[in-house]
Amino acid sequence: LVSIRHLEKRYGALTVLHDISFDVRRGEVACIIGPSGSGKSTLLRCINALAPFQAGSIKVAGIEVRDPALDKRGLRRRVGMVFQQYNLFPHKTVLQNVMMAPIHVLGQNRHDVEERARRLIAKVRLQGKEDTFPGELSGGQQQRVAIARSLCMAPEVMLFDEVTAALDPETKKEVLVTIRELAEDGMTCILVTHEMGFAREVANQVYFTDKGVIVEHGPPKEIFNNPQQSRTREFLDQVL
Ligand code: ATP
Ligand code: MG
Repeated sequence: LVSIRHLEKRYGALTVLHDISFDVRRGEVACIIGPSGSGKSTLLRCINALAPFQAGSIKVAGIEVRDPALDKRGLRRRVGMVFQQYNLFPHKTVLQNVMMAPIHVLGQNRHDVEERARRLIAKVRLQGKEDTFPGELSGGQQQRVAIARSLCMAPEVMLFDEVTAALDPETKKEVLVTIRELAEDGMTCILVTHEMGFAREVANQVYFTDKGVIVEHGPPKEIFNNPQQSRTREFLDQVL
């Protein structure tokens, strides 16, 4: 579903991604781990065309992201993204937040969207909070609204960038459960995370990145139990 070949990304003279290649098949969960500044967020931003790149290719459902004639709206409809900051509209209710994009960006029928939105709010376990405002919710609950909002666009792949980094352990868990259920339902996910236990549990493939390169990748068992590269071992010793 997502196919990346020889991706190279520079900011001025600084190359932040070097020769990145990997594939994520439909229904797979790929976890990207690595130290701060290794280019994890930049990689996700390249996938949904938030950051332009200089060489290589990224294809999402056959769409070439680097194509100058790219329909960005069409791409982002297929690729949902959730960040650490959830950026909900504070003066809109949970239901309105979730419904907004399909109605205003895609011009879909309000009744259909509302039905879907209510179903997704229940799916992220926020049934009963439809008419609540974001400010009245915990961080974890707001993050789950952000996930439901992204899902309401019916994406084919979801990108998660350290979505639990700002949350306390209790609310963190609720969000991780939501993502795990999503993955179990077959959603294709690419996630950047510092939660190694979670990566071990849900990932099909783990990519360890450092200084803009994929140092090592493999099934979580191999990466966590038997890393081949000394750089991976050092990183895991620090975080585990
Ligand atoms: P973290 O774990 O701290 O979130 P990361 O792995 O997500 O780090 P990136 O945010 O992708 O790392 O940054 C990779 C490199 O690109 C860093 O050296 C950063 O300084 C640089 N960088 C990121 N965004 C920009 C930008 N808009 N302009 C210039 N340099 C940038
Ligand atoms: Mg980042």
